[in-house]
Amino acid sequence: MAAIRIDGKACATACREQAARRAAELKAQGIEPHLAVILVGEDPASQVYVRNKERACEAAGIRSTVLRLPQETTQEELEAAVRKFNADAAVHGILVQLPLPRHLDEKRVLTLIDPDKDVDGFHPVNAGRLLTGEKGFVPCTPLGVMVLLKSCGIDPAGKHAVVVGRSNIVGKPMALLLLAANATVTVCHSRTENLADVTRQADILVAAVGKPGFITPEMVKEGAAVVDVGINRVDGRLAGDVDPAVAEKAAYLTPVPGGVGPMTIAMLLDNTLSAAERWQA
Ligand code: NAP
Repeated sequence: MAAIRIDGKACATACREQAARRAAELKAQGIEPHLAVILVGEDPASQVYVRNKERACEAAGIRSTVLRLPQETTQEELEAAVRKFNADAAVHGILVQLPLPRHLDEKRVLTLIDPDKDVDGFHPVNAGRLLTGEKGFVPCTPLGVMVLLKSCGIDPAGKHAVVVGRSNIVGKPMALLLLAANATVTVCHSRTENLADVTRQADILVAAVGKPGFITPEMVKEGAAVVDVGINRVDGRLAGDVDPAVAEKAAYLTPVPGGVGPMTIAMLLDNTLSAAERWQA
C-alpha cells in the first residue's frame, strides 16, 4: 500500500496563518515583531532564501529588515552589524544568512548574536538549552519536522527513531527533539557500519544526508514514518534524500518538494514571534 503523503505545504500554511494571528495580537499590545536578516555577498540561492523569508514575514504581518552587505565585507564590519542589531530594542530576531563568504568566520559571527534574538537557534547557548531541556530557540528545520509528525498524529514516545545525519543544524537537534519527545533515538552518520540494518529498525526514520535517493526501500521497515529533510538539485529539479519508491513500504512519507522545506520558514516566523513575545507585559 502506498504511504500517506505528509503535506508540508498545508501544514506550513496553517502555521503561517497562526503566526499572522500571533503577530496581530502583539501589534494590538503595541509590539511590532521585527526580524533582522544579514545577507553578505551575491550567492543566488541565498538571495532567493532571503527574499522568501522577507515575503513570509510580510504575509504574516512581521516587520523584516534585510541588511545586504557586499561580498568584500570584513569580519569587523559584519560583527559591527550584528552588534548593532543586538543593541536595537526594536529588533526581536536576528538571522545571518549562511553560507557566508569563505573569508568570514561563521562560527564567530553566530556566537556574537544575542542568544535571546537567535531565531535560527544556532548559538551554542541555544544548543545547550536544547540539550538540557531548557526553553530556548530550536533550529527551524528539525522543529518543523516535529510539528509535521504531530500534524499526522505520530507520537514519537516509545518509538525507535533513527536519524541519518549529525549536522549541528539538522541531525543533532533532530535527535535531541525526538529524545525529548520520549523516542528511543539512534543517530547514524558516514562512519556508521551496516547502516541499512540500523535504518530497518526505525519506526520513525529521518534522512538528513544531502545525497539524492540515498534511502532505498530495502533500508526501510514496513509501515515506518519516513521524513525526508534532503534538498538536492538533480538535473535542475529538486530531489530528496529518500528514493520515492520508499512510498511503497512506508506508512507515511514527506515529499520533496512540499514536505519539510515549507515548514522551515514557518518555524522561523514562530521563533521570531516567540522572541517578540518576551516583551509582552
Ligand atoms: P551536512 O552538514 O552535509 O550533513 C550531512 C550528514 O550526512 C553528515 O552528518 C554526514 O555524516 C551524513 N552522511 C553523509 N554521507 C553519509 C553516508 N554515506 N551514510 C550515512 N550518513 C552520511 O548536511 P545538513 O546541513 O545536515 O543537510 C542535510 C540535507 O538536508 C541536505 O540535503 C540539505 O540541503 C537539507 N536541508 C534541508 C533543509 C530544509 O529546509 N528542508 C534545511 C537544512 C538542510 P558525517 O557527519 O560523518 O560526515
